[in-house]
Amino acid sequence: MPAIHIKNAYILTMNAEREIFDGGDILIEDGTIRAAGFLDPQSIPEDAEVVDACGRIVMPGLVNTHVHLSQQLGRGLGDDVDLITWLHERTWPYERSLTAEDNLVSAQACCLEMIRSGVTCFAEPGGQHVDTMGRAVEEAGIRGILARSTMDCGEGIPENERESTDQCLDRQLEHMENWHGKADGRISVWFGLRTIFNNSDELLTRTKELADSRGVGMHMHVAEVREEIDYTKTQRGAPTVEHLNRLGVLGPNLLAVHTVWITPREMDLFRLHDVKVSHCPGAAMKVLGFAPVPEMLERGICVSIGTDGAPCNNRMDMFDEMYLTAMIHKGRTLAPTAVPAERVLEMATIKGAEALLMGGVTGSLEPGKAADLIMIDMRRHPGSVPVHDAVANLVYAMRSSCVDSVMCTGKWVMQDRTVLTLDEQGILEEAQERAEHIRKRAGIALPERFPVRTR
Ligand SMILES: [Zn+2]
Repeated sequence: MPAIHIKNAYILTMNAEREIFDGGDILIEDGTIRAAGFLDPQSIPEDAEVVDACGRIVMPGLVNTHVHLSQQLGRGLGDDVDLITWLHERTWPYERSLTAEDNLVSAQACCLEMIRSGVTCFAEPGGQHVDTMGRAVEEAGIRGILARSTMDCGEGIPENERESTDQCLDRQLEHMENWHGKADGRISVWFGLRTIFNNSDELLTRTKELADSRGVGMHMHVAEVREEIDYTKTQRGAPTVEHLNRLGVLGPNLLAVHTVWITPREMDLFRLHDVKVSHCPGAAMKVLGFAPVPEMLERGICVSIGTDGAPCNNRMDMFDEMYLTAMIHKGRTLAPTAVPAERVLEMATIKGAEALLMGGVTGSLEPGKAADLIMIDMRRHPGSVPVHDAVANLVYAMRSSCVDSVMCTGKWVMQDRTVLTLDEQGILEEAQERAEHIRKRAGIALPERFPVRTR
């Protein structure tokens, strides 16, 4: 593979000094960044493929730390309903009706949407069909951490999803055997813990032991809704995070998602144990509430950004999530300086990589890291012109339609708005068709919002 030389770029490195090079170069060899900055022309191999990035921002590929690949075909099934209806009458019936082949198309469609919004790395909290998710990620060309949904206790769980503690763990170990490190290392497998409602204390502690011994992470929805805290207090004797602490589950390899209903003391516990957080502002606004993000950032907790799944966000678009992250905490705290653009960009790049235990691999453009990057056309969208301050403009004005090229491990995944790895048209048509069949099989009836006349 010849070297790639990207020149004339506005490079947002997100390195330790957060350096920006206006008109800089990036040299990529064997999928790895060899240099980023202002390069001596002598140091660039003569046969390097040259990419002129004039007028473009080149920055690390975005990291989506919480996205449900298997829920993509359920987009629109959970709008304007309460959480129990959302889960019991919409999401669980949908998941129960999803076949492995449906799941493949769901995962492909989700990867497409992520690629278009500049994502090169994501973490999946756990679907039922890990094999088809693995196939989709292999094909899509981006990085993914996969997990399997595990539920060994609780009420109302779909028959095909309830398992014993041993089954939960054994199946995850099987998936780890089959997929961890596959697709040239782009795929990792972590342990999934769905929620405390559905995970026994035994499952929690045994998962922690296994994750530690295998050097992987645990992906868990934590302190999502107020009812969860009432449940853990009465059933397990303490609010969720305090309970996890007593069980010894808190640690640097725990990715806690949402953390909306978390106390100041619990935030201190997160800091103490270096627990990582995935903030999903769209889903939070729709069904959960405000996560105390400024408070967590102030404590030095590693907070990243996720989109969550299509039935509860419904946009798998990190540009929308960056915008929301910057906006909602200002509104909640009435502090216009809360969560400024530079913090948001960190959360979506280097902090995302750190949250996924991949800070040494991706999340910034510097020598030795994988060439996971995106090119953004600053003048693609009328809403992003003019650009006075590129960092602020990225968060407050630009849309994902400004992303024109995406590279992962030195290979182009999208170039000039054309996705190279997936058959976009075919996947979208199949997604629509399969989604309608799933809805019918699941018996999900959506209320008519306006009277529909048919001919
Ligand atoms: Zn989720």
